[in-house]
Amino acid sequence: MEQLLEVNNLVTSFKTAGQKVSAVRGVSFSVNRGETLCIVGESGCGKSITTLSVMGLLPNNGEISEGSVKFNGEELTAKKKEDMRKLRGNEISMIFQEPMTALNPVFTVGYQLMEPLKIHTKLSKAEVKHKAIDLLNKVGIPNPEKRLKQHPHELSGGMRQRVMIAIALACNPSLLIADEPTTALDVTIQAQILDLIDDLKEDLGMGVVMVTHDMGVVAEVADHVMVMYAGHVVETGTVEEIFSNPSHPYTKGLLASVPNVDDANQSLEAIPGSLPNINEEIEGCRFHPRCPFATEKCKQEDPPHFSISSSHQSKCWLQEEEVTKDESYDKALS
Ligand code: SF4
Ligand code: MG
Repeated sequence: MEQLLEVNNLVTSFKTAGQKVSAVRGVSFSVNRGETLCIVGESGCGKSITTLSVMGLLPNNGEISEGSVKFNGEELTAKKKEDMRKLRGNEISMIFQEPMTALNPVFTVGYQLMEPLKIHTKLSKAEVKHKAIDLLNKVGIPNPEKRLKQHPHELSGGMRQRVMIAIALACNPSLLIADEPTTALDVTIQAQILDLIDDLKEDLGMGVVMVTHDMGVVAEVADHVMVMYAGHVVETGTVEEIFSNPSHPYTKGLLASVPNVDDANQSLEAIPGSLPNINEEIEGCRFHPRCPFATEKCKQEDPPHFSISSSHQSKCWLQEEEVTKDESYDKALS
């Protein structure tokens, strides 16, 4: 499958109070056309900073201090702001969690939805309006003709979010980056929008990067999963590998935190402790203060990524034992 996005050893740092701290510490991943990568982890783990780095939308005190971001083979970290803006309006689309900051309060919904269609497509005026109505229908907005004439403040928060999603999908982007896109919406609308993104992914070969903390959403939409903890990728794999054979203790903790819908009395088995501050230097594995399996080695040495399969990697010393076991098994056989 054709590769769309390739991120290599990304390090993103921030200057705060005269100090330079790294929020993303050597992150690598790739996304193919027609595939969804879900980035998961607790809030503050570096998921959103990773996507903002890719989009060239870091705040002024942030910078990519190492690594590369390639989109369709082109290096994005070297691009001018203006070129990045063009790319974002057209080939790469984004959906954020707070729609009010992203919609312009001055213009009608119709203007904001139809303007990009007029600029980026060859559709006639009537076709543009037809497509806008169709998109609003698809994101579950009733009475779309009326909505086109309204301003953002006349819509509920959930509706504004759906308008944002319609705008993001209007120009058939090749890459969609969505940060907790449906978190604020009720489950029916959430399912409808996830289905819509999934359809576009398949019909248009769109690549999707979705940031979420909801493992239910991951199970539904992901092809690949990347688990982040304290600025590191701790496990990557196909959705099957992550759900049926999770390796990293943090991934296991995240999966155990998913409530069992069949049992209303079951409590959430949360991971004890909390994420370290991004400026907190921790020796060894950054998860060790919270890990029930931590050994002396874990407290001293940061584990590398161990391969479990060609698509499945885990950054945990426990996996070294597995690999060594496999090797001695192989030796015993030969
Ligand atoms: Fe836990 Fe050690 Fe694995 Fe880190 S390397 S996740 S501390 S077992
Ligand atoms: Mg976030």
